[in-house]
Amino acid sequence: MSAVTEQTLETYGIENWGADYFGINRKGHLIVRAPENENLTADVKEIIDDLSKRGINTPILLRFPQLLFGQIRKLQSAFNKAIREFDYNGKHLCVYPMKVNQNRAVIEEYLREGSRYNFGLEAGSKAELYAAVGLEQSADSLLVLNGFKDRDFVELAFASAQSGKNVVIVIEKLSELEHTIKLAEEITTENPDARLPMVGVRVKLYSKGSGKWEKSGGEAAKFGLTTTEILEVIRRLQESGRIEMLKLLHFHIGSQLTDIKRIKNAMKEAARTYSKIRQMGIAIEYLDVGGGMAVDYDGSKTSFESSANYNAQEFANDVIYVIKNVCDDENVPHPTIIQESGRYLSAYHAVLVTNIQDEIETVVEDIADPIKINVDDPQVVRELFDLRETITGKNYREYYHDALENREELFTMFNLGLISLEDKGKGEVLFWDVCEKADHFAQQKKYVSEEFDDLRRLMCAKYLANFSVFRSIPDNWALEQLFPIIPIHKLNKKPTEYATLCDVTCDSDGIVDKFVDLHDVKPVLELHKLNKNEPYYLAMMLVGAYQEVMGNNHNLFGVPHEAHIHIGEDGHIIKKVIYGDTLGDAVKSARFDAVQLHDQFRRTVMKRIKDGKLSTKEGNQLIEFYENQVESYTYLSPNNGSPKE
Ligand SMILES: *Cc1c(COP(=O)(O)O)cnc(C)c1O
Repeated sequence: MSAVTEQTLETYGIENWGADYFGINRKGHLIVRAPENENLTADVKEIIDDLSKRGINTPILLRFPQLLFGQIRKLQSAFNKAIREFDYNGKHLCVYPMKVNQNRAVIEEYLREGSRYNFGLEAGSKAELYAAVGLEQSADSLLVLNGFKDRDFVELAFASAQSGKNVVIVIEKLSELEHTIKLAEEITTENPDARLPMVGVRVKLYSKGSGKWEKSGGEAAKFGLTTTEILEVIRRLQESGRIEMLKLLHFHIGSQLTDIKRIKNAMKEAARTYSKIRQMGIAIEYLDVGGGMAVDYDGSKTSFESSANYNAQEFANDVIYVIKNVCDDENVPHPTIIQESGRYLSAYHAVLVTNIQDEIETVVEDIADPIKINVDDPQVVRELFDLRETITGKNYREYYHDALENREELFTMFNLGLISLEDKGKGEVLFWDVCEKADHFAQQKKYVSEEFDDLRRLMCAKYLANFSVFRSIPDNWALEQLFPIIPIHKLNKKPTEYATLCDVTCDSDGIVDKFVDLHDVKPVLELHKLNKNEPYYLAMMLVGAYQEVMGNNHNLFGVPHEAHIHIGEDGHIIKKVIYGDTLGDAVKSARFDAVQLHDQFRRTVMKRIKDGKLSTKEGNQLIEFYENQVESYTYLSPNNGSPKE
């Protein structure tokens, strides 16, 4: 690997957050490695070129099911290892929380690999349950039902149990228990041997998680039963002779748990609760520890929000060790541990690739260069000119401050009508020239003061990226969650520009100006200069959890194209392409009907023809043009390969 490539690997931190799945090949392209054999790789640039030849343009979401499999195996083997190491007598099972990414492709691929380890599903709503009921799971896997439930939900759960699934209704509210007991009564009256769902209870722990989702745990949490409520559940089940249905104890203290200490505390508390219930003679089999296993998005291995200070093995070791110790201490059997990890399993497998459409100019550039100064130019303009000509590495700080003052004066004078539009324009160009020079001198110093950091942010390039933050990385907008962003090519060339990203929505929030960094958060991203006649592609990494399903329709930018990629002996195989939303699809989501729009447009044009404002030929062309739009992609078309004019 060349020295430059080593450098870019470090600049983008690929080896910090990439979990060994990503790298750079000799061409300087981003590659994805098959977890089962790291010699099998796919070249992301080649995938995009292949798709582009088929008329499928960026943005494109690439799905690599093998990475999903890789994560499943990593989790499974971490727990198996911990179980062996600590002589734990229970098993470990996973149920995938569908809300993290309910796309059929994701769920089906998950079940394909996960079924080998009896991994099942977790559903939190009627719609998720409805989908889960129709999917095939392995005989020993569970279907765990969380979330608030009405009678219909509970009925569907019973139907699923009768169809042979191992369903667990987790009681979040006492009313759910009433429905459950009643239905069990009704069904067993008709058929005493009917297969019934199991019952679980969600406990409200005192222990809290850490990170952005801290609110999911603790006393004030939205979900979970208090100790007295749990005792009430037990009492009611005993009273109705249904206590044998109670099989699971559940808790979930939040997503992206960044701090292992907090996790251990929650495990201790939950294991005690489990033990005490066991000691009441109730045969609870499962301890469901919820989700929350974090993804190290920035690769810093810290308790920072977008990171985690543990890996899968440490997590598994701590869970198994803590639960075993408490159970041994309390003299109760070790439960089977259920885990509801969603983010950890699905984040890695999806990559959104998009192109830089253009650069947005914020710095006023010389249009009529070189600027000439005349004796009758206003004083303020002449001063700015002098600053520009005489700024050096020694005086840049002072000169920069002078320039700021001059600019203030320029605007004041303009507002008072004392200078012309041309003078104002000239002054602005000179001001930005001074800034550019000051920035240049400042960056050469060992220590760059905050003031010049701000200047850098102001001066940096703004790249227009052909995607919607709201659609494709909504957590970046809503929660300032960081995702690694990296070019998919040119990685053997040094990036020379500093840039932030703007998306294509008409929203000032549609920007990315915080980037992953090992020690901090970067305000700008190192990127390459845009070349005429050459597309420049960026990948947003680790977007497989939550982003797709939480993404919204802002500005009617629809769902991007999607391609499913297999990494084989000869590189990539495009297994499936799912087209993104067309303009027709997009307006439909706002309850418009394309046929109706076309009819209306046709009537308007016909009237213009009738009135003699358009020829019949012109009118027909207009109608045809409009109607053809229904099929086009909601994102920007490539600029014939020329991002910059
Ligand atoms: C959201 C959720 C999960 C998934 O959490 P991750 O952090 O994605 O692993 C698990 N269990 C419950 C109850 C949830 O609400």
